[in-house]
Parts: sequence; C-alpha cells; structure tokens
Amino acid sequence: MKTSRRDFIANAGAAAAARHDLAHAQEPEQEHHAVVPSDPALRVKSLESLLVEKGLVDPAALDALVDTYQHKIGPRNGAQVVARAWVDPAFRKRLLANGTAAIAEFGFGGWGGDYLVVLENTPKIHNLIVCTLCSCYPWAVLGLPPVWYKSAAYRSRAVIDPRGVLREFGLELPEDVEIRVHDSTAELRYLVLPERPPGSEKLKEEELAALVTRDAMIGVAKVTLTKPEGRP
Ligand code: FE
Repeated sequence: MKTSRRDFIANAGAAAAARHDLAHAQEPEQEHHAVVPSDPALRVKSLESLLVEKGLVDPAALDALVDTYQHKIGPRNGAQVVARAWVDPAFRKRLLANGTAAIAEFGFGGWGGDYLVVLENTPKIHNLIVCTLCSCYPWAVLGLPPVWYKSAAYRSRAVIDPRGVLREFGLELPEDVEIRVHDSTAELRYLVLPERPPGSEKLKEEELAALVTRDAMIGVAKVTLTKPEGRP
C-alpha cells in the first residue's frame, strides 16, 4: 500500500498525540486535543520549523506575535467594552449609536474594526453573528476567530437553524425570544453586547469584564456569574 507524505506525517502525529494523551491521562480534563493536526496546522508547523532552523525568524518574536493576538488583541478588549457599557449608561448609549467611535475611546480599532456595529441582547432579542461568506470578525475587540466560526457548518447552519445551533452550544432560548442573525462583511463587523448577568449588581467594572466570554460577544452564549473554565 502506498503511503503518502500526508499519511506519514499524520501517523507520526497520531503516535505523538497518543504519547501526549498518556502523559496527561492523570491530569484533569481541560481541553480535547486533536489527535491529528489539520493540514494547514501541519504546514504552518513545518514552515515555522524551517524558518527557525534557517535563522530567518526568531522564535521569541513569533511567541510575542502569538501572545499579542491571544492576550492583547483578543477578547479581553471586547470584555472591557462590554463591562463599561454595563456600568456607564452614557457610554452604552454612545456604543449602540456608533460602535466604531465608542470602541475607539479605548484605543481599539483597525484590524477589522474600521466599521463596528454593536448589537444589544435583551430578554426578548438575541443577536447572533456569523460570516456566511468567509470569516469576517471584529479582530480589534475579539482577536482571532475560533475555528468553528470559520467552519462551513456554522456559516450555513447559523442562518438556516440558529436556534438549533445555539442549542448545540448549550444555549436553549425560550420560543418567545427573537433570534436575529447578522452576516458580517469585510466592511461591516459586529459585536454583541450581552445581557448583564442577574446577581452581578455589586460587581465592579473589572470584575464584570472578567466574566465576559468571547462566545457571549459572538452571541452563542450568555454571560454567567461563573466564567466557564478555560474560555477566552
Ligand atoms: Fe468573511
């Protein structure tokens, strides 16, 4: 049987993953590791190894770049905006009237934030964001999009059956809640302003920001008093 290079790399990856799983078998389960990395992930890893080996890039510079996207240009930016809107009615008003300008007050913009519209969730209206064409996403406030956001399944089903998709994310909405699906484009990107969770009245702005998840700002989750483990 002919073994392609892809099969070889995949098999090597599977063996490494199996050893990895064994090594972590005693640890609490925090995330599921893909047994075989995807084709693009393998290509990126190979490219990175080559560039480092040839001295063309500094691994520390790559780490800094990844850190920037994960921690600086990431969902923590959006969480700050949401928490401010919850505690400052004047800011909330500005945010809903002109998302781009209000978000720029934090110094966030560009990087897919040239024209941002903020949609407020209420007890009767739930907003959900998708990009049916590709993966347009408000990078300035949410960082890089999660893999599922870019998947064909999410992009098509979010429009056809939003209630079913939300159910799969663990969010069951009452029938009398209207779900509005918003299709992002390269020119117009959305951020959901989730509902402030009941019982959070005494929390300070920083404490509120810590509860806001990326998923809640896409509209596939609600904000709760306990932030789910490991969610960005
Ligand atoms: Fe897109």
